[in-house]
Amino acid sequence: MANTLIDWTDKVWNPVTGCTKASAGCKNCYAERFTKELQDKGIEKYKDGFKVVKCHPDCLNDPYKWKKPEKVFVNSMSDLFHKDVPLEFIKRVFQTMYNNEQLVFQILTKRAERLLECDPQLKWTNNIWMGVSVENEAVKYRIDLLRECHARLKFLSIEPLIGNLGELNLKGIDWVIVGGENAPEARPMKEEWVLDIQRQCKEQNVLFFFKQWGGCNGHGSRLLKGKEYRAIPEYRPDFFGV
Ligand code: SF4
Repeated sequence: MANTLIDWTDKVWNPVTGCTKASAGCKNCYAERFTKELQDKGIEKYKDGFKVVKCHPDCLNDPYKWKKPEKVFVNSMSDLFHKDVPLEFIKRVFQTMYNNEQLVFQILTKRAERLLECDPQLKWTNNIWMGVSVENEAVKYRIDLLRECHARLKFLSIEPLIGNLGELNLKGIDWVIVGGENAPEARPMKEEWVLDIQRQCKEQNVLFFFKQWGGCNGHGSRLLKGKEYRAIPEYRPDFFGV
């Protein structure tokens, strides 16, 4: 279960399962579909289905077994900052992360308000990267909230991109991932929206990763104007200073 096809990470780690929808980007949630599949197969961890947010303390030790330096996406099947995940459990997840500096942990949330609420209670080490999802203009405020938290590397997952984002303030943002929607009823992503984000990343000196076009415009293609853009931040434990 730890290996993944998500190409900006190496592994997934799911100490929480289950979620509820937060905004338009959640409409065709992959985690919801995959949870159903695992539940139908009788996998114990997913037996309560997607709508029940459940913490799994038995998973907190898994990263201690992973000795190779790798990137780990935290909660691909949920949202760590969901209101039903107690702060005490979030702190335990952070403890595992800062005790395993051989790994980079990539957390992604749509609950940027809760992230900021919890932020003063969390210990951010260099190997914990924090991102927010931004699928359309209505949720751009998440970027401002992310900027205020104390994570040392901050990123945006602009996937699925379902509308023009317009002007972006990328101050304090290190990395931007863009992708289309991969789902049976995928919503289209326009090339001009992607090019506009790429331009702004270039102008504001932010790393740009183009993931793929998604279900429309040529399923799975990673090419943007005939080229791949796959920038990923380099991790060195001392890079950002302690
Ligand atoms: S926040 Fe993420 S996991 Fe939760 S419903 Fe939305 S897309 Fe799915």
